[in-house]
Amino acid sequence: MTKKFSLPQQIIIALIAGIVCGLICAAAGLGSFTASYLKPFGDIFVNLLKFIIVPVVLFSMIEGIISMNDMKKVGAVGWKTVAYFLVTTAIACIIGLVLANIFRGAGLFPDLSGELGSAQYEAKEFGGFMKTLVDIFPTNMWNSFLNANMLQVIVISLMFGGSIIAAGEKAQLVRDFVASAYAVIEKLMMFVISLSPIGVFTYMTWVVATQGANIIGSLALVILCAYIGYAIHAVVVYSTAARIFAGISPIRFFSKAAPAMIFAFTSTSSAATLPISKECADELGADKDISAFVLPLGATINMDGTAIYQCVATVFLATCCGMNLSISQMVIVVVTATLASIGTAGVSGAGMIMLAMVLETLGIPVAYIGLIVAVDRLFDMGRTCLNVTGDISCAACVTKWEDGKVG
Ligand code: ASP
Repeated sequence: MTKKFSLPQQIIIALIAGIVCGLICAAAGLGSFTASYLKPFGDIFVNLLKFIIVPVVLFSMIEGIISMNDMKKVGAVGWKTVAYFLVTTAIACIIGLVLANIFRGAGLFPDLSGELGSAQYEAKEFGGFMKTLVDIFPTNMWNSFLNANMLQVIVISLMFGGSIIAAGEKAQLVRDFVASAYAVIEKLMMFVISLSPIGVFTYMTWVVATQGANIIGSLALVILCAYIGYAIHAVVVYSTAARIFAGISPIRFFSKAAPAMIFAFTSTSSAATLPISKECADELGADKDISAFVLPLGATINMDGTAIYQCVATVFLATCCGMNLSISQMVIVVVTATLASIGTAGVSGAGMIMLAMVLETLGIPVAYIGLIVAVDRLFDMGRTCLNVTGDISCAACVTKWEDGKVG
């Protein structure tokens, strides 16, 4: 018997089935049932993904670097990737700010200034930019693996990859080991990915059943504003970039990226989506070595959805505390939201924690985050979806710039 549905089709079916079941559960008042008995299956799946992330990033990056076999090429791919990330993130901030100001100007943001008492938020400590920079460099690689500190794992991969190339012939044994280990990890990854419809279905049912009411709540317009931003950025920036730089039509781009987008939407973690993004980028025709380099880096530092969210949330919360942001303050928002999104980890809810940094810079009380904390997952679904889309489009563009063709 032939396989009935391909994985992307299964994921789409799981998404639709999850929405329908979620609505039924919401109507039947089964929200807590979905949280107790369905969500755990999604959690198991995400745990499996998290468990393979460190070996996937480590071996796929080292393997990618070794295959490029030339540190100059690694450098060229590196700066093009980072340039793409920075430019698109800055554009994302501008889109977020413009939209938020349109909504604010039209009086569409609710006035929640009186509700803060019931919604307190404890800010996390920030060590500042220099400390963040220093912390990228590991003192003990086992700790980096243990804590799944992805920036450190990336640095470790870069250093090992570069050293293997530098060691030449003598490193043959290590080269063979990396190739063999990566082949095993790839099989493991394929197995875990094949379970993704279960993750999509259970998470979607749970979110719709428990958060559905929040969508209709007072923050609906703020969420809508962020989603318009996500959609504009995906359609205008990414698909145009894929079209102009990589010669890929928007339909092909989105249809190939769809499994990763849907999975990111339901899991709210770019890092957990990484194995699926890799599959999608390869399907799209991105060079495997380049995507092995670009995607882990993107899942760690390229967060355009997070940047849009931070800008929209900042304007909204500023409005709530009676502040009107001036042009120079908006420029500060663009710079800090770009940095905050780079510093955001690719895990669920991280963008909201980094929002505190943007608010602090502007003098908006961080406790105001309490106003949006309840619906953060709804913001997070869209922003994570956009984050991984950006990584995939970057992998396609950099492939074209380096290899002259995609596919
Ligand atoms: N959840 C997002 C991601 O993994 C990060 C964020 O919270 O903004 O990409």
